[in-house]
Amino acid sequence: MKPVIDQDLCLGDGICEDICPEVFELREDGLAHVIDARPGEGLWVRVEKASVECPTDAIYLEEYGPEEEAAA
Ligand code: SF4
Repeated sequence: MKPVIDQDLCLGDGICEDICPEVFELREDGLAHVIDARPGEGLWVRVEKASVECPTDAIYLEEYGPEEEAAA
């Protein structure tokens, strides 16, 4: 799965980073960024939790496209 943040919706409260700092990072621009676009399976539960807990539903999870699958 590929976590994506809609930064137009991000409040910068850092909840996602608190839940899964391996994947989400709050930066000086006041927005959360994805720092691992291909998190290992061991992180998926927390990535999903971050998606659920985000107050504005800014985090969504995409399937990899065929080209990304091929690059895996
Ligand atoms: S939990 Fe959502 S609103 Fe909060 S910093 Fe992360 S992406 Fe932004």
